[in-house]
Amino acid sequence: MSTTIRIASIPGDGIGKDVMVEGIRVLDAAATKFGFRMDWKHFDWSCEYYARHGAMMPADGIDQLRDFDSVYLGAVGFPGVPDHISLWGLLIPIRREFDQYANIRPVYLMPGVKSPLAGREPGSINMMIVRENTEGEYGTQGRFENRGTEDERVIGEATFTRKGVDRILRYAFEQAMTRGRHVTSATKSNGLAITMPYWDERFALMARNYPEVRTDQFHIDILTAQFVRNPDWFDVVVGSNLFGDILSDLAPACAGTIAIAPSANLNPERIHPSMFEPVHGSAPDIAGKGIANPVGQIWAGSMMLDHLGQPEAAAAIMRAIETVLAEGPRTPDVGGKATTVEMGKAIASAL
Ligand code: ATP
Ligand code: MG
Repeated sequence: MSTTIRIASIPGDGIGKDVMVEGIRVLDAAATKFGFRMDWKHFDWSCEYYARHGAMMPADGIDQLRDFDSVYLGAVGFPGVPDHISLWGLLIPIRREFDQYANIRPVYLMPGVKSPLAGREPGSINMMIVRENTEGEYGTQGRFENRGTEDERVIGEATFTRKGVDRILRYAFEQAMTRGRHVTSATKSNGLAITMPYWDERFALMARNYPEVRTDQFHIDILTAQFVRNPDWFDVVVGSNLFGDILSDLAPACAGTIAIAPSANLNPERIHPSMFEPVHGSAPDIAGKGIANPVGQIWAGSMMLDHLGQPEAAAAIMRAIETVLAEGPRTPDVGGKATTVEMGKAIASAL
């Protein structure tokens, strides 16, 4: 009996709906070729759903997702619905409930895509950003003191736990073992005098378990400059919630366009479902025009298959994406005239 992969798909809003169709098309084609089965269940949770029901998803939404192998998300967001509603009503509960502690963004300069950095050849940017996704600077603990007086002050707490720091560092080192065996840590121990020296200490300890992996660390300020000046230096870059957030937008921008970049919210041990999505949002300016680039969604699908034990299908999808980006048909954002559907079909048949 062939393996069946059960996926909850949430197309969401705007171009999320267009690119999801192409993601499913390509994953179904990969399944046929590599001898497994995709079993999709579609959920219409979105800002449109919010307009009708007053919530982004039903009260038992998380429970409805719990038994799927993964969640495949398009994009949520709509003009007029504040970001915090789409975030806190859908994305953040999924990340939290399923303990998706690693946010992963592979970054690769594809053929046919122009980097904003001068003189970059395809493949010369090839890194993976590993962001801690559950703790750190994005805490909700804090307090105001002397509110309304001259001595007013506000204190916000950042919490780094040994468990939280070690598990993201371990994940980064494990990834490096399958890639270029190099991990760079984003720090700021010259400014954040309590939390970041702790991060550095745990990084040094974790590195001892991986003698084959080359390590270095940069303060976040100089690190962002290095991304622009010497992106080919980097393999795996690991950062806290805040630093990882910054780097995981900067790096795909250096590699051309957010339209082709994927993102994974991982529960690496697969105790809970992970979630895979493109980096871009719902792009209301081009929604419904049929010209959205489907590559970010399809690449996210490749990551999903890799995570679910289908590395050959995942790699074949990546080769198909590279072929179509190099030879066309391409959507307008990468210099072509093709529609979303034409590009998706071309990637499916390149498989
Ligand atoms: P959201 O509020 O959902 O995050 P947004 O307005 O921030 O949406 P993004 O989707 O993040 O928009 O993208 C910013 C711009 O980049 C869009 O306005 C769009 O023109 C372009 N863009 C994003 N994704 C794609 C894509 N897949 N194909 C083509 N262009 C895209
Ligand atoms: Mg946005």
